[in-house]
Amino acid sequence: RTVYVNGDYLPETDAKISIFDRGFLMADGVYEVTSVLDGKLIDFDGHVARLERSLAELEMASPVTSEDLLEIHRALVARNGIEEGMVYLQITRGAPADRDFVFPDPDETPSSLVVFTQNKPGLADNPAAKKGMRVISIDDMRWGRRDIKTVQLLYPSMGKMMAKKAGADDAWMVQDGFVTEGTSNNAYIVKGGKIITRARSNDILHGITRAAVLRFAAEAQMEVEERNFTIAEAREADEAFITSASTFVMPVVEIDGVKLGDGTPGRVAPRLREIYLEESRKAAI
Ligand code: PMP
Repeated sequence: RTVYVNGDYLPETDAKISIFDRGFLMADGVYEVTSVLDGKLIDFDGHVARLERSLAELEMASPVTSEDLLEIHRALVARNGIEEGMVYLQITRGAPADRDFVFPDPDETPSSLVVFTQNKPGLADNPAAKKGMRVISIDDMRWGRRDIKTVQLLYPSMGKMMAKKAGADDAWMVQDGFVTEGTSNNAYIVKGGKIITRARSNDILHGITRAAVLRFAAEAQMEVEERNFTIAEAREADEAFITSASTFVMPVVEIDGVKLGDGTPGRVAPRLREIYLEESRKAAI
């Protein structure tokens, strides 16, 4: 696989980053994951817009323009022959002369850019979407700026492990009694045909897939309510689902061992998945 590191396209085994890079030492970095269908990028502009926001919130400079980023993404997709999969990009605050909590001067320490692809044949035709996933609920113990897409992913990884050990597929995190989001996705329930999901704030990542799905839902005359919901309400919902760039729309059929409705994916989530795949394939670049 060819990867991109700070201006160079290299075999992955030759790619190197300094041990003083603040991404490595302090998780001082941001990332984006863009999915690829039919060899094209899904919602690339949305991911770049969120990347720019994450960078601005952390006073971090991008080493390249958004046009360069698009070119790098396309070059890697072509070189690695990706038809279905993902492009991962990460910008970290670079490698200053010494370890220090204070941000280095960006003129002396340029940030680092790493981009690589992941080949995932069958991403769109994922059998898991027909079966639905099982989630458990856990405390949300992450920091308070989840709207910034940082590479600080230890708690979400721990959450995924808790789910795995419990025989489930993922965890929904709960703060002050209300669901925030999944470990790597936004969370939704459906009640009486109405789609309910937490409103955007610093408490959740503003999902690019979330924005697209809510837009498609409104266009299809589905009712959407952006508000908090509890695990108790979720367990009594007709349906539930998650969204993310790598899973699109994925039904949730069980929460903390309790089956939702008849324990099958239901109507709304599969329909939204279909609409999302169709519309985003059309708009892919
Ligand atoms: N929430 C969290 C915590 C995530 O990590 C992700 C995916 N990275 C999402 C939501 C979904 O965001 P997107 O639709 O942009 O992939």
